[in-house]
Amino acid sequence: MYTTWIVNIGNELLIGKTVNTNGAWLARKLTLLGYDVRRIIVVPDAEDEVISVIKDALNRKIKLVITTGGLGPTFDDRTSEFLAKVLNQELVINEDAFKMIEKTCKERGIEVNEKIIKQAKMPKNAKPIPNVYGTAPGIWIEHENTIIIALPGVPKEMIAMFEQYVEPKLKEIGPKLHFVEKILEIKGVMESEIAHIVEQGLKLGKVYIKSHPKGYKEIEIHVYSSDKIREKAIEEVEKVVKYLINEISKKGGNIVEVM
Ligand code: ATP
Ligand code: MG
Repeated sequence: MYTTWIVNIGNELLIGKTVNTNGAWLARKLTLLGYDVRRIIVVPDAEDEVISVIKDALNRKIKLVITTGGLGPTFDDRTSEFLAKVLNQELVINEDAFKMIEKTCKERGIEVNEKIIKQAKMPKNAKPIPNVYGTAPGIWIEHENTIIIALPGVPKEMIAMFEQYVEPKLKEIGPKLHFVEKILEIKGVMESEIAHIVEQGLKLGKVYIKSHPKGYKEIEIHVYSSDKIREKAIEEVEKVVKYLINEISKKGGNIVEVM
């Protein structure tokens, strides 16, 4: 079984300042990939809390643990250090992570100081995950039968890293589900005009929907679903696509089904 825990780390989540959108987003993605999300746990940036939840996951032989938050340069970003402790691994400067950070800093004209280098420190057996928008690389560690993936808290960074690096790997490792997708090209409406339609569509079926603006009043919408039974995935996608076409047409949008 592909049992999965999502662990969202951050004091701001527990004081009600930030809504845990990372938890929901990851849960949906992982479910579509066939992983069995059993828990979404929110913990503060506190050593004992993070360590105890990871320990618990390891004891229960949870297949996949994804954490978000606490990878940045500030003093309270200590996820990497906590992982090293709980896995009983040395915290070392990861050469590949260091190179990634150095490259980003060079491109942006940022000075590579101690705080920045801190983000290259990882448990000894970790592999870094490139960060497309920020400087802090993510972390991939395999320990006994558990995969632990640590991603940053900033949603834009977390999403890009998941989609570009984590998702393809998890697809390979995970249960081989049937993946069905459809792309709609839409002209004549703004993305903001159809945002609520996309939101409704998400609630309608076991699908993932993402809209990509392509130009002024030009949007591409990607709808996909996965299931053990291919017909079921097709059914889910078609149901939602039908809804989207209907509602977007009412707003004056022209729709072409691409694939
Ligand atoms: P940074 O490099 O920005 O410090 P980080 O990995 O340390 O990244 P955090 O400091 O934990 O991440 O979070 C950065 C910001 O991302 C938070 O201020 C918050 O706005 C947002 N954020 C963090 N966790 C979540 C979450 N679970 N859901 C939604 N937004 C979040
Ligand atoms: Mg931070």
